[in-house]
Amino acid sequence: MKIAIIGAGFGGMAAAYDLRKAGHEVTVFESAEYVGGLASGFKEPHWDWSVEKFYHHWFQTDRHMLGLIDELGWRAKVIFPRPLTVMYHEGRFYPFDSIFKALLFPGLGFGLNKIRFGLIGLFLRLTNDWRSLEKVTADEWMMKWAGRQVYEQMWKPLLVGKFGPFYREVNMAWMWARIKARTTRLGTFEGGFQQFADMFAERLREMGVEIRLRVRVEAIGEEQVRLSVRSGGKSEAFDQVLVTTSPNLLARMCPSLPENYLKGLLELKSMGAVVMVLSLKHQLSREGYYWFNLPKEAGYPFLALVEHTNFVSAEHFGGDHIVYAGDYLEAGHEYFSLSDEALLERFLPALKKINPAFERDWVKKVWVNKTNYAQPVPLVNHSQNIPTIQTPIRGLYFASMSQVYPWDRGTNFAVEIGRRAARMMMEQDLQK
Ligand SMILES: Cc1cc2nc3c(=O)[nH]c(=O)nc-3n(C[C@H](O)[C@H](O)[C@H](O)COP(=O)(O)OP(=O)(O)OC[C@H]3O[C@@H](n4cnc5c(N)ncnc54)[C@H](O)[C@@H]3O)c2cc1C
Repeated sequence: MKIAIIGAGFGGMAAAYDLRKAGHEVTVFESAEYVGGLASGFKEPHWDWSVEKFYHHWFQTDRHMLGLIDELGWRAKVIFPRPLTVMYHEGRFYPFDSIFKALLFPGLGFGLNKIRFGLIGLFLRLTNDWRSLEKVTADEWMMKWAGRQVYEQMWKPLLVGKFGPFYREVNMAWMWARIKARTTRLGTFEGGFQQFADMFAERLREMGVEIRLRVRVEAIGEEQVRLSVRSGGKSEAFDQVLVTTSPNLLARMCPSLPENYLKGLLELKSMGAVVMVLSLKHQLSREGYYWFNLPKEAGYPFLALVEHTNFVSAEHFGGDHIVYAGDYLEAGHEYFSLSDEALLERFLPALKKINPAFERDWVKKVWVNKTNYAQPVPLVNHSQNIPTIQTPIRGLYFASMSQVYPWDRGTNFAVEIGRRAARMMMEQDLQK
């Protein structure tokens, strides 16, 4: 078959790998000038490693991603340090990266709350029944089972931070998936995620996949038994097409999809993200903390502060210290339109709160990355609203972050859904 894949993120590249291995002719269309999609990175001339535009790491449970890396023969390039995660409580930060440390966290009070917190964590780790959990909101479930104090201290800040105005509508299966699939050791690829994406793209090219960068697909249409893909005003025919963009972009590219399917795509909610990357002359967290969870009530102008070089060594970045300050926001939030300088002005006082010795002249350079598709919002009974991978148009497939539910989005699940879509495409071909 002659197959087009729209998007050279990890989903699109994983699908291209399996389809090409099975002997199909594969062309990947990518609008950006680089591969890697949301997990892509950038590099300064004096850095050996790249830095992801949006902070990224893997968990030890990311078996689809690690399995793919095994197949590619690059497992020795994956490292799994154990960086320090901290939680804010009344002006101070407390380590929060093991059950033991979580139990010592003062925000939980004493006695019963700690037991409730521990039991809930254990229950969510052990159960696989996410279908019951998706029937109720995380807000209701946590209030009932964790109690007000544990919920408000531990879980509500996470929901508010990730989902803003939708936090009360998010279902409990989302929380389950987060707790189920996370580990305290966090992984990355030697050289950064972009290094991995570039090596993967190179392997695909060696296998015969054509990757067209800087080519935006404008439209997908039906052409008797084939599908047409239009880019740069020219159309090309394919037997099958896999789209890996956001649901909104698919709806825009293919308005001839049946009304019900289109409506389903357009009704899905998601949050955007604005993430500032700073290179600093000095280490920001004197304690060497990697990930700071910051509740909105504490008055920080962002949700997460992540000191990347407390995860991987600053030596890889010519001695620069790399810090992310980011937030999940609704499209239309003012952060999307503020200039980089104006955003930096908003963020600087918070850096001084993290380290009182911080001065503005520590900042060497700033980059601001924005996306309006960063985090799908799963509402109650969300499994009923997931668009099918096989669309109602014969030969047209869709695999995105919005469909990896009940799992939360991540490169691991992009690989899983990309490969699942590839299998479905090949099965349909056999049934012809
Ligand atoms: C702030 C943030 C933090 C994250 N942290 C982590 C993490 O720690 N660990 C982790 O594993 N994952 C993390 N993720 C999620 C991860 O980045 C995504 O789940 C994954 O990259 C999605 O891959 P994908 O291939 O499905 O989509 P994408 O990476 O979005 O790929 C889609 C591609 O399609 C291209 N495209 C769009 N429109 C067109 C068009 N018309 N024509 C041609 N090409 C087009 C885009 O340029 C893009 O390259 C994070 C995401 C964000 C936003």
